[in-house]
Amino acid sequence: MDAKAETKSSPGLQTLPGDDVRQIMWRFADRYELHMLIQSARGVARGPVARVVADGGRNSHEWTPAKAGLLHHFDESGITAAALDPEEGGFIAGPKNLALALLAFELAWVDAGAATCSLAGNLGLAPIHERGTPEQRAKYVSAAAPLKPGENRKQVRAAFALTEPIPFVGVETGMLAGKVRVAEWKDGAEPMLQVDKRGRFITNMGFANVVTAAVDSDDPRIKGSCMVILEEGDPGIWDRGTPTKKLVHQLSSTNDPVFNLKVPADRIVGGYTVKDGVIVPNYSHGEIIEAVFRRTRVTVGLMTAAKLLSAVEPVILYQRRRFRGGEGAPGTPRYELGIQQKEDALHRLVDIWATGEASASLGFEAARLFDQVDPMERQKDQWLAEKKLTGRAALKELAAKQKDALELLRITSAPVGERDLQRVGELEADPLVQFVKLDSLANVLCPACKLWNTGHGATMMREAVSLMGGYGVTEDCPGFLGQKWMDAQLEATYEGPEAVQRLQLSITMTSELFLAHFQQWIAEMRQAASARPGTGACTLASAMQLWLWTLKHVQTATDADGAKLYHKTRQGVTFPLADALCWLLAARQFILDIGELETQGAGNPALADGLSGFVDFFTDLSHVQCARAAGETSRICTELVHGYNRHPAWDETSCHACYGADELQSLEGIIPGIDGSARAYSDVSEIGESHPVKRGPCVKFAGLEDFARLRAKLDGCLTGCRLAKDRAAESLTKVMTREALDYPV
Ligand SMILES: Cc1cc2nc3c(=O)[nH]c(=O)nc-3n(C[C@H](O)[C@H](O)[C@H](O)COP(=O)(O)OP(=O)(O)OC[C@H]3O[C@@H](n4cnc5c(N)ncnc54)[C@H](O)[C@@H]3O)c2cc1C
Repeated sequence: MDAKAETKSSPGLQTLPGDDVRQIMWRFADRYELHMLIQSARGVARGPVARVVADGGRNSHEWTPAKAGLLHHFDESGITAAALDPEEGGFIAGPKNLALALLAFELAWVDAGAATCSLAGNLGLAPIHERGTPEQRAKYVSAAAPLKPGENRKQVRAAFALTEPIPFVGVETGMLAGKVRVAEWKDGAEPMLQVDKRGRFITNMGFANVVTAAVDSDDPRIKGSCMVILEEGDPGIWDRGTPTKKLVHQLSSTNDPVFNLKVPADRIVGGYTVKDGVIVPNYSHGEIIEAVFRRTRVTVGLMTAAKLLSAVEPVILYQRRRFRGGEGAPGTPRYELGIQQKEDALHRLVDIWATGEASASLGFEAARLFDQVDPMERQKDQWLAEKKLTGRAALKELAAKQKDALELLRITSAPVGERDLQRVGELEADPLVQFVKLDSLANVLCPACKLWNTGHGATMMREAVSLMGGYGVTEDCPGFLGQKWMDAQLEATYEGPEAVQRLQLSITMTSELFLAHFQQWIAEMRQAASARPGTGACTLASAMQLWLWTLKHVQTATDADGAKLYHKTRQGVTFPLADALCWLLAARQFILDIGELETQGAGNPALADGLSGFVDFFTDLSHVQCARAAGETSRICTELVHGYNRHPAWDETSCHACYGADELQSLEGIIPGIDGSARAYSDVSEIGESHPVKRGPCVKFAGLEDFARLRAKLDGCLTGCRLAKDRAAESLTKVMTREALDYPV
């Protein structure tokens, strides 16, 4: 319960949150190179990119000179080089997941097609970056750096070709039609390969000169699948194909290319060995795309988050000015507030903003997590290589580390005085234990942010569009909201649509390690509820408990016909639980980010005046978001827990099934004929005149009393959430905005 929130009086939100606030919440206040990068990207997004959109650049499928011109702006501003290491021509040392996430966010604030155009180059190179040999990295990744003055070389522009024409690769990445054969293999020489690949919907294909393509062996002298690097100029067919007639992201180039090229075997990404006269690629295409997508999907999730947050100001500006015609005079509520006089319009904007915050919080947390995981993963690979462990042997070794990581989590969950600190020290000193611990989180946070940010984000973008009335569905809509709505649907689709993320979550969210973290997080939210009650952390903790209980229940329960509930073929069970988890994770991270703002913001003089207003407003937004997340979780869990039981025949025992003894008591006087003193079902002979009841056992709550209790607790926790929404709505009527957006309409 959030009594504190109900009584406090907030100075209110004075301005929209700026960089000072975001740097703290998203934890890059001390990274000046990222501040500079954001400024550069913002200049490109709100300048050249916005102008191309405003000039109608999105109205063609072709790769036009105006769109191509943006590549030069990306190069000049540092956007292209941001993905590269300093020795490759970049300027950011170390992992770059957060940097690229911030870039995607800035560009997508205006146009996600432009963001995709820039990021697809990184995606094309990512197989080489993640799994390429040192020679491949040196050759291709460095060549992607923009040309320095006086330099004369061809800059690599890359594309990533996995998806194939129907009926081959799409969601199902194993159905490869693309083939690789040995074209020539002279004694002692590098084998030559013939690569035959057709792509569908390949981004950057209008201009790319290097393609990383997924292919399967069509030759007994090559084992399995792999990814191969193709270059424009390789002998054979390099046909860019026709542009895709997209309704979305028109500032990126998408084509259906055709390749039939002869390339040396050293183009196999990650290299190969020769065993008994067979070329054995070091990595299958599946292994490579897994390594690639688990990072790049985070940036996609942040594109949709940016859209939602970018919608706030244009909607406020529109709402306030809407009623300025006619009789209204400056100073009157009608003139100053316009549509903001109406509660529903404000409440809907609160929901959009809250979703944007939670999705940005989740996405940036995932990006930061990958920055931590990256070096650990390399250490793990090195360690396994040194021990010559591959395949099952490697998995066995990692499973042992998982046990250690679980032990570490168990010890650190114990009360402070009861912890075996020596053992904690030993376990923490093991980099592999740290790796598997964080990896179990990355395996959940990445699909969660791709799934929830984009899928639910697309739904919420429709809300934003609706708040702009007819303008929302025109090209002239300030903030390009109509286009952003459609674009969000692509973000939910490419790099694996929602089904792919749900599939992955249905596996990773059940890992013992992740669930051990999750249990700690429930306790963490209970603590947060004491420190910051208004955030809705208490509601969230109760919803998390309900989710965990439900997961454990469906993992062992069967349906009315005795079939297992939690099974990979039963997506009706596993997928909704994955969805519910995403709601919880996003709301939790938002709460943590507010905590960070409150504690770290105090030390920032630039925030001296506004800090409490931001914290209070975000606290209310968070409460709204937690209530919504709890509601979704509760709905999903209840359907799953009860929905697979068969209801007794309606005509005979319906009242038995629908009311428990306590409920009967509480319903006395509400439903005629109910005997409130009934202690057991057998005591009840009749409920209402038209409901004859037979004696028999209760089927509804048998074995599910704990679930009913958790739900009842959760309902109680929602106390105050609508008051928080009212306060947040009021803040929207007072917050200062600019006179106009800082990018063209
Ligand atoms: C503009 C654009 C750019 C793109 N860029 C690239 C690129 O650069 N490189 C590249 O390789 N690809 C690219 N893609 C392809 C994109 O990644 C695929 O479209 C996407 O992965 C889905 O594949 P599909 O379209 O074949 O859908 P399908 O595989 O046909 O799936 C359609 C739907 O069926 C359902 N479904 C399918 N399988 C399952 C399942 N196992 N369980 C439950 N439901 C399921 C889901 O609802 C799914 O959304 C791009 C696509 C677009 C539109």
